[in-house]
Amino acid sequence: MGPVPAFIALLPWQVALWGLAYFATLYFGFAALTLLVTGALRGLGIGRVLDRRPLRAQQRRREIGEALLSILVFGVGILLPWWLLRAGWASVRSDASLLRILVEIGVLLLWNEAHFYAHHRLLHTRWAFPRFHIQHHRSHVTTPFSTYAFHPVEAALLGSVPLLPMLAWSFSWQALFALPILSLAINSIGHANYDAFPARGGRSWLTAGRRHHLHHACFRGNYGFFSPLLDRLCGTALADDAADVVLKRAGADRHAA
Ligand SMILES: [Zn+2]
Ligand SMILES: [Zn+2]
Repeated sequence: MGPVPAFIALLPWQVALWGLAYFATLYFGFAALTLLVTGALRGLGIGRVLDRRPLRAQQRRREIGEALLSILVFGVGILLPWWLLRAGWASVRSDASLLRILVEIGVLLLWNEAHFYAHHRLLHTRWAFPRFHIQHHRSHVTTPFSTYAFHPVEAALLGSVPLLPMLAWSFSWQALFALPILSLAINSIGHANYDAFPARGGRSWLTAGRRHHLHHACFRGNYGFFSPLLDRLCGTALADDAADVVLKRAGADRHAA
């Protein structure tokens, strides 16, 4: 039996358990990898830490606690695409060529970018921010554990990324499987609090980490996930020095204390 029929044949509790193990492995694996890579870059003198303000009390503990809830939402949420496949609303291919898989991954990442920008702007409205997004912004200084630290409603929004595309197109299982991995890789760059390419401008695709650091430091602007494009098109891009006032004030406070 191929991977797709085998997945469809699983029982609901088996699907949920598989989902929980998959997302927990991704979350802790990428957090460890980010710490390793940024540690190595620092050791080699490449790049710089973006925000040197101290973390808030119990920040990592809170982030991991919230992430465990997100993993529960993502893991159990796998039942939804599983049900779409089982009911015949969607189908998945097992015989796609490498080229087709790569094109599909590109399409899913573009969709992910647009989906994230739209829901992130929605979460920054006056109504939604205090209800569903303030949790994520409690991390003024981000850590590799901030990636999944958000309200369950935001987790459900983020987890819904592949549903619409799956209804419209028969994707390969490899592309669908790769989406959460690549999405978390990008998410980890965004929350690593590390700029590996300080010489590059804020409009470069290589400075996604700096852009999301500015979003956390300023509480607004730079709503995109990886690309600077939508923020530029919609007039929400932040200047590279947008957080300088906040960061300098924090430095002066530390010296005065
Ligand atoms: Zn935000
Ligand atoms: Zn963030």
